[in-house]
Amino acid sequence: MSEKKQFRAIKGTRDILPPDSARWNWFENTAREVFESYNFGEIRLPIFEETDLFARAIGADTDIVSKEMFTWNESGPSVESTLQQMWLLKHSAELHSASSHPVFANRARPDLVVRTDEGVSIIEFKRRTINQLTVANVLQYRKAFEEQFPKEKSAKLLLVFAEEPSAFVDKLARENGVEIEVLSIPDYEPQQVSLRPEATVSVCRTYIEHNMQALPGNQKLYYIGPMFRRERPQKGRYRQFYQIGAEVLGQSDAPAIDAEVLEMLLVFFRRVGLTRTTLYVNSIGDKNCRPQYVELLREELRKVKDKLKEDSQRRIETNPLRVLDSKIPEEQPMIETLPRISDHLCDDCRAHFARLKEELNLRGIAYKESWRLVRGLDYYTRTTFEVTAEGLGSQNAVCGGGRYDGLIELLGGPRTKGIGFAIGTDRSILSIEEGGEAPKLGGLTAYIAWMGQASYPAAVSIAKKLRAASLAVELPAEEMKFKKSLGLADKLGARYGVIIGEDEVASRTFTLKRLADGDQRKLSEGELLEYLESERRS
Ligand code: AMP
Repeated sequence: MSEKKQFRAIKGTRDILPPDSARWNWFENTAREVFESYNFGEIRLPIFEETDLFARAIGADTDIVSKEMFTWNESGPSVESTLQQMWLLKHSAELHSASSHPVFANRARPDLVVRTDEGVSIIEFKRRTINQLTVANVLQYRKAFEEQFPKEKSAKLLLVFAEEPSAFVDKLARENGVEIEVLSIPDYEPQQVSLRPEATVSVCRTYIEHNMQALPGNQKLYYIGPMFRRERPQKGRYRQFYQIGAEVLGQSDAPAIDAEVLEMLLVFFRRVGLTRTTLYVNSIGDKNCRPQYVELLREELRKVKDKLKEDSQRRIETNPLRVLDSKIPEEQPMIETLPRISDHLCDDCRAHFARLKEELNLRGIAYKESWRLVRGLDYYTRTTFEVTAEGLGSQNAVCGGGRYDGLIELLGGPRTKGIGFAIGTDRSILSIEEGGEAPKLGGLTAYIAWMGQASYPAAVSIAKKLRAASLAVELPAEEMKFKKSLGLADKLGARYGVIIGEDEVASRTFTLKRLADGDQRKLSEGELLEYLESERRS
């Protein structure tokens, strides 16, 4: 016995082997067909992004960002040092003349650039991206500077960024009179990157990066691929799992968009035989009404803090909505007594939700309202939804989604409305299989049993022709006795054996044997092709 280490797939990751992979392909291709019939186009995204992107969009207090991301540091020049070099090159003369200024007295590298009448500058390099800089802290810098150097009251900030100017920069300049210079770094590399835990955020980044608001109509995009979260692995929960998601981004937040997205989702589920499902919908308000509700919820939760477990206790302060997600049995009676968002929606959100329900009825979509459906991520507004399926135990959500109207702006993009969902492929396929609804797919059509070197060229030739007709064909590379060959054909699950021996070569025919019942017939090449092709169609 070898003492060599046996490598295994890492906990929480899985190998999907044939023939199961055929089911995965069928599932994903059906999604492509259905989504494209609703005029969605596929978007292929990177599987890792700058860590800050996820932190900002999903929320630093969420489990996903605070505990579950696979994150690593990139080597190579930092943003700071690249910026410094570029800036120094550009402003060396200016800096030189300023080097006697007291600001530089005790600093090798200045922190913040401020242009004054005298051309004196200080540079801020510590903040790596616009996303980490707020209007408030920029103004704070200016105030600190003005206090430190009262004689230079006319000072204006000169900010140096690693990115293109964004709405944030405009706002700073327009509303606060801050002078801004942007240096963009061509080979800008973020220092910290993460495997994506989800893809909505990447779609939004792409939308901004590619200026998609300039394109006509709503952007209707779907993606298919793996996501990564460091969760405790169990049935239906993996560290590498697969999602199929769709997003609609544009200027309108019409409830008909939400309803059409849900219709498409359910049409897809029906098409793949995932019918034992329940759709739950809710509205979690928007920036006008949710903050008050969250505050009210927080106050009520503080009163019953002792009855909650540690996680929920912490969430009272960090993210009280998440307490409503709790599955802990002891907490349930108390949660049921909490104030409900539906009683605290503003008029616009209430009307939006009412209209959505009318739209769902119009489309014959059955749903249940669930006031506790708040979803784990910070970016949701108004409509939230989830689909659960049978046969999955506690991990029974097969799809989650909702509206995220402020997300693009939060990432520095233009005012944009958005809604989308993500289907969990792993769980959906589990549920389809457990329900016995999975169709039989693919499989080997023909096994070419050849014997004698004289028959080999005919075997190669017919295999090529059958494959050109998109039939699955196995051609053994080495000669075998017919008995052994056909025995293997049977084990491989081939439906037919195509027998080529001396007789067949001499008569320029093929013997076709149906392996299920042994039925055998002699056919010419044309007849064989025609027969097997019609078999495939039937
Ligand atoms: P979420 O982005 O958390 O709303 O997830 C959307 C869907 O992805 C869920 O309803 C699940 O079906 C699936 N999903 C999320 N996390 C996992 C995981 N760790 N393993 C398998 N599927 C998952």
